Amino acid sequence: MAKRDYYETLGIRKGADAAEIKKAYRQKAKELHPDRNTDNPKAEDQFKEANEAYEVLKDADKKAAYDRYGHAAFEGGMGGGARRPGGAQGNADFASAFSDVFDDLFGDFMGGQRGGAGGGARSRATRGNDLRYNLRIKLEDAFAGLQKTVNVPAAVACGNCKGTGADDGSEPVTCPTCSGMGKVRAQQGFFTVERACPTCNGMGQTIKNPCHVCRGAGRVEKEKALSVNIPAGVETGTRIRLAGEGESGMRGGPAGDLYIFIEVADHPLFERDGNNLFCRVPVSIAAAALGGEIEVPTIDGGRSRVKIPEGSQSGRQMRLRSKGMPALRGGGPGDMFIELSVETPVNLTPRQREILKEFDTLSKDNNPHGSSFFKTVKGFWDQMKG
Ligand SMILES: [Zn+2]
Ligand SMILES: [Zn+2]
Repeated sequence: MAKRDYYETLGIRKGADAAEIKKAYRQKAKELHPDRNTDNPKAEDQFKEANEAYEVLKDADKKAAYDRYGHAAFEGGMGGGARRPGGAQGNADFASAFSDVFDDLFGDFMGGQRGGAGGGARSRATRGNDLRYNLRIKLEDAFAGLQKTVNVPAAVACGNCKGTGADDGSEPVTCPTCSGMGKVRAQQGFFTVERACPTCNGMGQTIKNPCHVCRGAGRVEKEKALSVNIPAGVETGTRIRLAGEGESGMRGGPAGDLYIFIEVADHPLFERDGNNLFCRVPVSIAAAALGGEIEVPTIDGGRSRVKIPEGSQSGRQMRLRSKGMPALRGGGPGDMFIELSVETPVNLTPRQREILKEFDTLSKDNNPHGSSFFKTVKGFWDQMKG
């Protein structure tokens, strides 16, 4: 049997442009879709024929070759041309050309399936949801990293129906309401609205004998214990993705992912800024004025000695190199900063008051900030007067 002309197959004039071709194919695909023509055995072949024609005509290069040489352009091992429909190769083309048009016709026609590139046009499997698990850890654990067992509520494939959702080996059947599209369209005034099919809830399939264990969902709720490796250096907001550990898919679809959201709790001693740590250390007036050495804690549980220079003011920072948090993504660790907080003594005894008063009468140029402040104040008042 001679092969039909591609333009004729799609019912358009020779040399029609891309928009016309797409429009025509769209029409044919809708008309001939096998799900809608279960009683017409010829429909499937015609559908494949239209599909093959579209595969060629939608491609500018192939179309040019076809316009020039006709079917001969793709015969005799030219490669890359039309393939015999029906084989595995033909089916792949079928899916690609088909989804090409139906993607924009029906949105996510695959029933909300995400992840798998392409998928099968007839697959009703749905990917499982991603799960979020909030994990609060101590700063020390963020510093060292830890192995943590988390119990996540997860839906796992139903053992009774092996995830198909159908009981006793009965097969899910194409939904009669939406012809397997998972969506129905309705005319409302000038607008066509599209919504999930009410019969199959967007699955595109209905089950005659739903599995009595999972009620047709193909999965059951279960808790699973997962050992999670929290790397050193994580911070609040770090997400750890465990691929495939989320909810299992519907009817044999792939599982979602599990995301561990890290929250690092505040620490009573250390404040974190990126990879740096800050530790505020109170020191007495005398220690700040005279200088000396103090012992400070480090996040690894150890201690470090820090020299306080003579005459240190409140807020002075001293850096301890590489004593901060490790870097999560390569690079060296942060630093730790010791910030001095000079304390005013309280609850003075009469003797202490006496000494302090005496000290004050002896003080002249001992308060650098004070004297420069009052000099500036005096200048301000003089200028306002003038
Ligand atoms: Zn089941
Ligand atoms: Zn339906």
